[in-house]
Amino acid sequence: MEPPPKTDPLLLTPGPLTTSATVKQAMLHDYGSRDIRFIEMNRRICAGLLSLCDAGETHLCIPLQGSGSFAVEAMIANQLPRDGKLLNLVNGAYGHRITEICRYLGREVSVLETGEDQPVDPADLARVLESDAGITHVTVVYCETTSGILNPVPDIAQVVANHGRSLLIDAMSAFGALPLSASNVPFAALAGSANKCLESVPGLGFVIADKASFPATEGNAHSLSLDLYKQWHYMNETGQWRFTPPTHCLLALDTALQELEREGGIPARGRRYQENCRVLVNGMRELGFETLLPDGLQAPVIVTFLMPENEVFSFTGFYRRLSDLGFVIYPGKLTDRDSFRIGCIGSFGADEMRAAVAAVKQVLQTMGIRNLGSE
Ligand SMILES: *Cc1c(COP(=O)(O)O)cnc(C)c1O
Repeated sequence: MEPPPKTDPLLLTPGPLTTSATVKQAMLHDYGSRDIRFIEMNRRICAGLLSLCDAGETHLCIPLQGSGSFAVEAMIANQLPRDGKLLNLVNGAYGHRITEICRYLGREVSVLETGEDQPVDPADLARVLESDAGITHVTVVYCETTSGILNPVPDIAQVVANHGRSLLIDAMSAFGALPLSASNVPFAALAGSANKCLESVPGLGFVIADKASFPATEGNAHSLSLDLYKQWHYMNETGQWRFTPPTHCLLALDTALQELEREGGIPARGRRYQENCRVLVNGMRELGFETLLPDGLQAPVIVTFLMPENEVFSFTGFYRRLSDLGFVIYPGKLTDRDSFRIGCIGSFGADEMRAAVAAVKQVLQTMGIRNLGSE
């Protein structure tokens, strides 16, 4: 794997993110949609995605054009029957987006919401499921990218299964780095993206759906282009995509999946991100920044820092100076606290993260701030 070109900034953002030079180079081909190499590559990608969550025997993989939200919307539209009812577990903006999707789709939804720094509580979930027999499906966001919080998906999956309901997982910012195995986490479907922890380019998502219940999803979709039932059947019967495939995105993802395997799979990638996260959090704390989350709730994906209460500090200036030094960070997304975020995912390691922390230190110095904590 070649490092990314030095002329591009390091994207410390949760997508688009920094990809390896080899992933970008993989796109330098024009494949026709009927090319046998292309058809084989699609099969290889789907098999690879299924094996990453031990779901080759139990689930189907349906790739879909578009950003991650397209896959989430397609998953809900296809899995939730038109007369079904969703219980949506929310602790951030991506959870709220699922509620909004249901409103567009005209599907019944109720919300169990916790604070943006509070994981979903499985005991509360059990109580709601016991009190409302109408709920057919439950949605959870594995890593809520709003704050970077990790939700206890295995525990939630057990509660949902014990109550005989179906679980839909937004695994967008977790898939490829955080473990999720269909052999011990029962789920009806999950949605993922090529562009986050899989370290490929944006433009393509996928849904992994339980085989046994898949035939019953026929006719659920409200939308022609997001109809996963049709998408899968067409691909299964012809080997081809229903509509123009994102050929270059698929070439990139094929290489990205090989690079993930060479790195040592999900455990190794998870460790690299964990180390990125540790270097970031320790370095920033030394400079006087505070994290929103305690370490025990923090997923090694993106870290939310509280906006320093320092008269001299301005986020706009901070962002611009960091970006001049080659590091792109992310504004905050919390509803009730001023914050900013720095991502730990992408094709880089602890050295680049140390350089990012050094750049933060340098920027603080040019702003005339020595240590945020002591001033
Ligand atoms: C990135 C992300 C999405 C999808 O966002 P897009 O901007 O549509 O790619 C959905 N859910 C979570 C948790 C995410 O992190």
